[in-house]
Amino acid sequence: MRKPVIAGNWKMYKTVGDSVAAAVALKPLVANANHCEVIIAPVFTALKSVADRLEGSNIKVSAQNCATEKSEGALTGEIAAFMIHDTGCSHVIVGHSERRQYYFETDQIVSKKAQAAREAGLIAIVCVGETLDQRDAGKALDVVKEQLIGSLSGLTASDLDRIIVAYEPVWAIGTGRTATPEQAQEMHAFIRRVFAERHSPGAADALRILYGGSVKPDNIAGLMKQLDIDGALVGGASLKADSFAEIVNYNR
Ligand code: PEP
Repeated sequence: MRKPVIAGNWKMYKTVGDSVAAAVALKPLVANANHCEVIIAPVFTALKSVADRLEGSNIKVSAQNCATEKSEGALTGEIAAFMIHDTGCSHVIVGHSERRQYYFETDQIVSKKAQAAREAGLIAIVCVGETLDQRDAGKALDVVKEQLIGSLSGLTASDLDRIIVAYEPVWAIGTGRTATPEQAQEMHAFIRRVFAERHSPGAADALRILYGGSVKPDNIAGLMKQLDIDGALVGGASLKADSFAEIVNYNR
């Protein structure tokens, strides 16, 4: 049985004070959410303060990115996965489409970040997803397969239970346009098949695959009814504690 995951990606929003306030506001609203894992991903500067305030709660904290290099060194502006772990985080998002698009992250880079995360004891939320042009050209499955294989290369069988995959069609992120539950289910089932072929049916069966792209309180229940959708990575609608809590509590 795969435990669902509802993760909020706060992107580059909120000061330290605003992040702590939002986390504190969220805490009681999701305190009874035992049906799923709840994760929030604030900006780097707020990680430690938020993690400290959430200690002992059922909300886990994730970073939004990490360095490819595993150990400390002369890499100005970078933050290593072990430093993220040191703040009290348990997860890190890697390969988000905004990083692939604006910071030119390749599958090779994403794979190095996923490996660094694993070595640091973090669970990597590895994002994949096609653009609208690629979908319209009928290439969505091929693109996602290539991203998946490339982004997870270098991980061994024993690493796989420390990976979560997020399918986030680029055309649905921040656009208000969600994939239909059927479109998302088709891709999630495909990702699981690719994973089974590459690794093992058992690992594929255990893999949690999140959907991301304009998830809101009014569309989460339909998405969660799909067989291969194991949760959501939520951007805009995670910024306010009450709307994110409504998404987390989709089963009520
Ligand atoms: C995201 O940032 O991962 C995301 C899915 O954003 P939104 O929910 O705003 O589309």
